[in-house]
Amino acid sequence: MQDFLSNELAQVTHGALRFLDLSFIGYPLLAFLSLFVTGYVVLYRQRVARGKSLSVRLFLRAFLSKGMIFRSSGRVDVALLVLNSTVFPVLFGWMMISGQIFVTPTVTALTHLLGSHAPPQISAGAQAFLATLALFIAYEFGYWVDHYLSHRIPFLWHFHKVHHTATSLSIVTVHRVHPIDTVVFGGILALTGGVTAGCLEWAFAAPFNLMEIGSTNLFLFAAMIAYIPLQHSGVWLAFTGAWGRVFLSPAHHQLHHANDPTLYGSNLGSCLSVFDWMFGTLKIPSAEPQKLTFGVSASDHPPVGILDHVVQPFLDAGRTTSSTAPAPLAKAS
Ligand SMILES: [Zn+2]
Ligand SMILES: [Zn+2]
Repeated sequence: MQDFLSNELAQVTHGALRFLDLSFIGYPLLAFLSLFVTGYVVLYRQRVARGKSLSVRLFLRAFLSKGMIFRSSGRVDVALLVLNSTVFPVLFGWMMISGQIFVTPTVTALTHLLGSHAPPQISAGAQAFLATLALFIAYEFGYWVDHYLSHRIPFLWHFHKVHHTATSLSIVTVHRVHPIDTVVFGGILALTGGVTAGCLEWAFAAPFNLMEIGSTNLFLFAAMIAYIPLQHSGVWLAFTGAWGRVFLSPAHHQLHHANDPTLYGSNLGSCLSVFDWMFGTLKIPSAEPQKLTFGVSASDHPPVGILDHVVQPFLDAGRTTSSTAPAPLAKAS
């Protein structure tokens, strides 16, 4: 038992340290790469709509200009991007360590309930594809659960509202997240990812390292580079009808940011809208751009200034726990 625990601990620590090495360089690189890719897509769309082309020089000039990144909410967005570049790798490492802890108990429980079996006749490529897809869905489900709780539980809302105080959206707003919001998100992802990894280990009857495949997930990588920042770009790209029930478009996410009580707590998914559809929080956008105001209501006492955005949520959350909890600040429809 002691050997098993020390082996398990050594494996987890080794993987986490390797991952931390990668992600200290990886997060800022990934963040800036995604800003460039998304920024190019947004500007290209605008230029093509006006029948014009887009040169690299023009792109760089526009990208660094005020309109693209430094909108009215942009200073807080950029400050939190810098803060998250330092904090995020540690949190992500912690999430991977915690996730790996759920793998073995899940395999043990499944073996106890369903028994063990021989490895299935399936190619390594198909196994990798299925594992990547399953972990992507686990991420999406974890994202929806975390986001739902962040809008329903006042304590969590105080930290999550930092993301919602943006009165204008830009491709940097995706990084406007309070570190405590990320800690909670990491804990929930560790659970959904770890249990899914345990199911995969049992199904394939082969050891499965969450850190190996979790850190190289192609679906997530593509989403983080190009799709998630695009959701905050202000571009009205809307998936309607059946597509709108499966994929969460940038227009879906703009409805989520709207300062409109009828839309509070809607469209809580990341890239997929299936969980919103299943749990009744889906609002499909119209094909034509909708006029929306972004931000939170005055009763939410939005923080002012960069430091306030980091410190005030702790004070607000402290007040929430020491008094009778108020009604949830945002309501799912
Ligand atoms: Zn939200
Ligand atoms: Zn957002």
